[in-house]
Amino acid sequence: MSTDLFELSTLALHAGASPDPATGAILTPIYQSTTFVQEAVGVHKGFTYSRSGNPTVAALERRLAALEGGEHALCFATGLAATTALALGLLKGGDRVLVSDVAYGGTVRLFREVLPPFGVQAEFVDTAKPECLAEALRTPARLVFLETPANPTLKLTDLAACADLAHAAGALVVVDNTILTPVLQRPFELGADIVLHSTTKYIDGHNATVGGALLARDAALHERLVWVRNATGAIQSPFNAWLTLQGVKTLPLRMERHCANALQVARFLEGHPRVTAVSYPGLDSFPQRELALRQHRAGGALLAFEVEGGTEAGIRVLNNTRLCSLAENLGAAETLITHPVSMTHGSVPVEQRLATGITEGLIRLSVGLENPDDLIADLRRALSA
Ligand code: PLP
Repeated sequence: MSTDLFELSTLALHAGASPDPATGAILTPIYQSTTFVQEAVGVHKGFTYSRSGNPTVAALERRLAALEGGEHALCFATGLAATTALALGLLKGGDRVLVSDVAYGGTVRLFREVLPPFGVQAEFVDTAKPECLAEALRTPARLVFLETPANPTLKLTDLAACADLAHAAGALVVVDNTILTPVLQRPFELGADIVLHSTTKYIDGHNATVGGALLARDAALHERLVWVRNATGAIQSPFNAWLTLQGVKTLPLRMERHCANALQVARFLEGHPRVTAVSYPGLDSFPQRELALRQHRAGGALLAFEVEGGTEAGIRVLNNTRLCSLAENLGAAETLITHPVSMTHGSVPVEQRLATGITEGLIRLSVGLENPDDLIADLRRALSA
């Protein structure tokens, strides 16, 4: 971990918030108010109505912008609400979008099923191969949407290479940085125009909220997103923003422990005779290890594996863990084990799943903050069930 962590640790605690001037309260209050009284027509303190903006949500936005190394952030009700606002704000009928072929299932469904009836044409591209993106960009595209590491296989995209290709072709670059967070990956430094988060995951980190964020590099792009959020209404609630402000304080600390735990668990799985494949960017055996070392500060805490005996054997493992909870979501303090095909990626067409390695037997593990020996003991027991 780099020494930048010290800066991020401080920002995670202090950026965007200062003691309440009226009371000295150290925590930003939950401004649970629909509306804000104006002193005179057109004279107010920056807030008018909580669909347009809210002081608690604004504090979280300032903190996320500071962590991601940008100046602007906007929070949404969920991660998918952020992706929807992005599409509504930046795309119109006739536009073409190129999307990483492995991405969160809800993202795939949005681009594949929700947007095409409005005339937006989405194509799924193997962005792990910049040459495939270059080929796809021979036909003009408005937006390139990259998710790296990709949920659930952990396939990586070279952000600097793909951003260069997209910009040369006149497309905007959006990076979903949910899985590594700004602690481990810095998309703005690699060319992203917009960074997207499901704050539901590591940013909150406690399985307590759902939320999303869009961070734009450029003020004009940000203003467009401010406009569309107000016009379409999917702002985050003040209470969720307040909980997330508390959760994000320990993000750098948590990521360090998440990564250390995940590496131990990945090494255990790799050495287990019943495990046939482990995908984790922190392992030397990871096929894109060189890119992981160049692009990430550590391997992250999400991994995927398969066991001998295929689907049936995989499901037996999923059904037999006790400490690892069988659940959707990732990035929380508690370790979660997931069956992507029946859970998070159930809406991805089977052809796309099979072409991209999302097999029936694939198990996704979001390694939490428990003692790693306890996690390993739980997995060992489930693997021999
Ligand atoms: N992006 C990634 C990488 C995700 O894993 C998810 C959800 O799992 C989302 C976006 C969508 O976020 P939300 O569930 O908060 O709508």
